[in-house]
Amino acid sequence: MADQGGERSAQADMKVSFDLVAERIGISDGMRKLLIEPWRELRVALPVRMDDGHVEVFVGYRVQHNAARGPYKGGVRFHPHANADEVRALAMLMTWKTALVDVPFGGAKGGVMVDPHQLSAAELNRLTRRYTNNIQHLIGPHRDIPAPDLGSNAQTMAWMMDAYGQTNGYAPAVVTGKPVEIGGSLGREAATGRGAMYVLQAAASDLGIDLQNCRIVLQGLGNVGSWFARIAHEKGARVVAVADHLGGVYNDSLLDIPALVEYSKAHGSVAGFPGGTQLDPEQIFMVESDVAVPAAIENVINESNASKIQTRLVLEAANHPVTPEADAILKERNIPVLPDILVNAGGVVVSYFEWTQNLQQYSWTETQVNEALKERMLRAYNAVQSLVKSSDRTLREAAYEIGVERVAKAAEVRGFVV
Ligand code: GLU
Repeated sequence: MADQGGERSAQADMKVSFDLVAERIGISDGMRKLLIEPWRELRVALPVRMDDGHVEVFVGYRVQHNAARGPYKGGVRFHPHANADEVRALAMLMTWKTALVDVPFGGAKGGVMVDPHQLSAAELNRLTRRYTNNIQHLIGPHRDIPAPDLGSNAQTMAWMMDAYGQTNGYAPAVVTGKPVEIGGSLGREAATGRGAMYVLQAAASDLGIDLQNCRIVLQGLGNVGSWFARIAHEKGARVVAVADHLGGVYNDSLLDIPALVEYSKAHGSVAGFPGGTQLDPEQIFMVESDVAVPAAIENVINESNASKIQTRLVLEAANHPVTPEADAILKERNIPVLPDILVNAGGVVVSYFEWTQNLQQYSWTETQVNEALKERMLRAYNAVQSLVKSSDRTLREAAYEIGVERVAKAAEVRGFVV
């Protein structure tokens, strides 16, 4: 797929959005410096004995950006591009995200530079344990609470909880997104996709898009994309094209989403799915749609394709899928972009519910979880929308503004600067 990050500085991109907002809300120079700077960063070497007996050394990071509003919170990604710059940028994004949806956390991110598909389950288990041991002095139920992200999942969190518990005692609240058998929350796995759907439903009714008759194109059928697609399909929306990094499929009349999700799980890609026409994955956003949903990686809507996208609305289910240059082009073309820190916040919202359930040793039903998720997502959406309506801000600017302002207030009232 075109321009998957790499050369581009994600941190520099985040700073563009931050500076714009800081200027507008008029926070002091000192506070600006404080908010842009990650509080703590750790780089760790991770020696792992591979199944054939040789030793590989992987590199991992944990970046804690800001904890003015509560313990650090954010996922751990296993991806070949999970370098310091990317992890730092995503940690900052978490700070604004937790503030926007008003959960009592700060922002952090972790990363291990590895392609998890190249490792066996036993190798991944050893790698995850080594990573956890090497960052364990920074994490904890009231310090920093990791969760799944790109390339990691509930199993990864189970290994992390176990490794942390070996030296620190039983503490399920040290990570969220765990399997339900060991303290994970019902509804957590689907939460990001479900939350994105709540936001889309609210936005569609504001923008006059009829979800029953609209066309959706989707990039990415991992955790977020597959749950989003399933829920959209259940609600009667028409997902007409889906792509991943290996292939794409298109069917204008009826793409059988449950079958496609099963197929992609079994084959590792949607490529070759018999229920539609094959599509060049590079062309996914060129397929005419009412809603375009990037749900995979960063920078996929960029300067080179933003002027050609055929859609009425972009829903950022991935983190940072639209570059600032593309944002400007879409604004010019009057295509609204619902920003990542709002759209994909459902994951961290239900992480918050999981954490509280663990601390209280009490569990909620899935209906309770989904209702509470909906309420928080809509509250955040309405806050963003009312700021947009009362000003000339884009949805992203409004979302950032609410997040940054809340963090700045918390930092100030705590007396961070002495
Ligand atoms: N990795 C997810 C995100 O980027 C979830 C983070 C969490 O639950 O802590 O929002």
